[in-house]
Amino acid sequence: MSLDSLIANTIRSDVRSDHIYHVPDASGFVKLDAMENPYVLPSHLHHELAQRIASVALNRYPVASYDTVKQRMRAKLGIPPGYDVMLGNGSDELIAIMAQACALQPAEGRRAVMMAPAPSFVMFQRSAMVAGMDFVGVPLQADLTLDMPAMLAAIARHKPALVFLAYPNNPTGNLFDAADIERVLAALGDQGLCVVDEAYEPFAQRSFMGRLPEFPNLIVMRTLSKLGLAGIRLGYMSCAPALLEQFDKIRPPYNVNVLTQAAAEFCLDHLEVLNEQAALLRQQRSELSEALAKLPGVNVFPSAANFILIRVPNADSAHAALLERKVLIKNVGRMHNVLANCLRITVSTPEENAIMLDGLKAALAA
Ligand SMILES: *Cc1c(COP(=O)(O)O)cnc(C)c1O
Repeated sequence: MSLDSLIANTIRSDVRSDHIYHVPDASGFVKLDAMENPYVLPSHLHHELAQRIASVALNRYPVASYDTVKQRMRAKLGIPPGYDVMLGNGSDELIAIMAQACALQPAEGRRAVMMAPAPSFVMFQRSAMVAGMDFVGVPLQADLTLDMPAMLAAIARHKPALVFLAYPNNPTGNLFDAADIERVLAALGDQGLCVVDEAYEPFAQRSFMGRLPEFPNLIVMRTLSKLGLAGIRLGYMSCAPALLEQFDKIRPPYNVNVLTQAAAEFCLDHLEVLNEQAALLRQQRSELSEALAKLPGVNVFPSAANFILIRVPNADSAHAALLERKVLIKNVGRMHNVLANCLRITVSTPEENAIMLDGLKAALAA
């Protein structure tokens, strides 16, 4: 029996022709490519965290309601009264669940559409593909703002069931105009859902969460990843209860494991520690932006996230020169026309930012 024909006879053709999502090995590198918080929990909290984790019943399935962690989230993360959260194994899982819930069955005679600005977070399009939704990307303007006439025309033409707006956007770092987002919500009406992805909310300090009661078709999604807990994989979303219940039907009942739950509860009890780290990173973001803007030939885009997008004369050579110096940043220059020669750099500690700046300076001088 040939494995090739076995795969050809069983695995979907679009999956077979797809490639694996590549994550570079970062050992030994200054890692500024994935928007991780460089700070860890202070050592005085380690012992207490270890005790909490050690007392978790690893032999038991999670309590499927996830009540204790959800109660803390509702209390501490600005969830409006009467609204609940649904948890995901990272917000990546929540994106996949929403796509699965909105994709139509073949018998329904047409494919549902997911829409997002382009460029935006790559997992939107990937989740559409896997779920069997069509994906429509509406190019951003050169200044990285939403092209509203094009967005509204695409909504009228494609009638998307799901529109994703990352607020602030990844990889561009900017916040879209709140009034534009309101216009998208109004244009969708009862024909489509708008997901405002607030992965970078700790750095933007702007949110649609409190506005959920105003918009029945609004979903707000966030994650603990960028706040400093990327390793535990915990995302959450909120929307009108009757709508949340539909997505909850697709969520695997034990999708969040007991160790993640315990670590999240502990960190929510000490949320001020993570919030202070975010405040430090916001400060370092402005210092790094200023330093980058002083480099010859570098154009810095405004950022409300924990990363900075810059344009350089030659992104490929600057990226390669930094790799040479063991500094990992993201070359997004070939992702989309509006990002030509752009690099995305995670804001880190003053020490790591300085290493990156030195490397970039040398690369630009060469
Ligand atoms: C990083 C990121 C996420 C992914 O978050 P996880 O919870 O780690 O899966 C979601 N949306 C955007 C826009 C991001 O940049």
